[in-house]
Amino acid sequence: MSSRLVVISNRLADLNKPAAGGLAIALGGVLRSGGGVWLGWSGNIVPYQDENSVACTTVGNVDFLSIDLDEGEHQGYYKNYANGTLWPLLHQRVDIAVFDSSSEKIYRSVNKRFAHALLSVLREDDVIWIHDYHLIPLAEELRAAGVMNRIGFFLHTPLPPPATLSVLPNHEWLLSSLFACDLVGFQSNEDRVNFLSYVQIYFGDEAVDGSTVTRRRRTIVGSFPIGIDVDSFQAVAQSPAAQAMCAGMREEYSKRKLLIGVDRLDYSKGIPQRIRSFGAFLHSFREFRRSATLIQIASPSRDDINAYAEIQRELESLCGSINGDFGELDWMPIRYIHKTLNQDELAGLYQAAKVALVTPLRDGMNLVAKEFIAAQNPYKPGVLVLSKFAGAAEQMREALIVNPYDTESTVHAIHRALVMPLHERQERHRALLATIKRYDLHWWCKGFLHALTRPESKHDYSI
Ligand code: UDP
Repeated sequence: MSSRLVVISNRLADLNKPAAGGLAIALGGVLRSGGGVWLGWSGNIVPYQDENSVACTTVGNVDFLSIDLDEGEHQGYYKNYANGTLWPLLHQRVDIAVFDSSSEKIYRSVNKRFAHALLSVLREDDVIWIHDYHLIPLAEELRAAGVMNRIGFFLHTPLPPPATLSVLPNHEWLLSSLFACDLVGFQSNEDRVNFLSYVQIYFGDEAVDGSTVTRRRRTIVGSFPIGIDVDSFQAVAQSPAAQAMCAGMREEYSKRKLLIGVDRLDYSKGIPQRIRSFGAFLHSFREFRRSATLIQIASPSRDDINAYAEIQRELESLCGSINGDFGELDWMPIRYIHKTLNQDELAGLYQAAKVALVTPLRDGMNLVAKEFIAAQNPYKPGVLVLSKFAGAAEQMREALIVNPYDTESTVHAIHRALVMPLHERQERHRALLATIKRYDLHWWCKGFLHALTRPESKHDYSI
């Protein structure tokens, strides 16, 4: 691709930090190879916001543009509308979504600020890639400011069915703003179909033709399941730090079977349901008492939002009661750890585990599922139990797929995972590893940019 890439996301990635996530590293690689711009919020909250202030740092041929938010913007745009309204709605939790029109206004105005921040540096042939639910109306704001460039949008969260979307006040405004894009990408085919059905219901059957929506322009709608960088994750898993972590865990749990859950502490992850299922498993399968231990890593997240503080309390009491009911002097069934592990520690933990329980109630993709598979020793791999409501379930069919709301079947999947014969574990792992290698992070990045820049070329948008 000869033109520059412009990436816009809520948070500006710091590529110099070792903790920069896989996504930042992959996009950073594309930016560096062709030159480009990354625009995002600096993470700073400042007392007063001058509309036009944008800071620019140039590293090599990449310009990093950052804007600060003032307290009102942080509250209205980020905390309230993005994380208090859109996040629960997109994860089908309308019961805890908070709707207020003043936050929606601030969300709109911050999106306008993002658009204006870009205008001063935008070149005619730049290709623009907007990320995630914080910036849904941004393409529309860019068009309103006269931008003619190709614009793609990728939603990292799930997209719920039309009936759920229609709960949002002004949903037609929000969703139709995506018609300003040339390409709209989703994590799964289910999300893509939800969007197309929504458009048919609210904008007429004639607006949709196969994988395209034609309203203000021709918008391609595709599914581009995000992957991980398998090679680099496997290298992390082989690092001395990860190996030391794994050896330590194996020694500590030498007489036990280790199950793990690794999540941001979020109500969409189904952690309470998982803990209850594990309790029910210990109740039904007595032979695993004293021998199975679940380590649940719940990395702190958005804890200044009510729903997050509540789930934290719920988990503490749930784990306490199961440990109280089943625990022995020399065995605690659940180790609940409310902190963030680094990638080395996680990669070590994944390898020491016999079973990973990845059972979200809704999840855009779920990268933990892919990381767990990448980290396994192919000769004696662990087993992945995966929710059918994770985007990853469309691809990772050889996992033990469960409905996390169904305690009984989850209990049986946990049991099956723990007693699965070696050859079956190997076969499932081989198939899963091949899938995540084929559809890795580079495939995702290339595929999206290819569809955005060469829409005429053949591509199956419903992968
Ligand atoms: N993660 C981490 N430390 C932790 C817990 C999670 O580094 O203590 C990472 C994990 O390796 C994964 C990401 O956070 O890359 C979580 O991504 P996922 O898609 O599973 O869920 P999200 O948090 O984006 O909803």
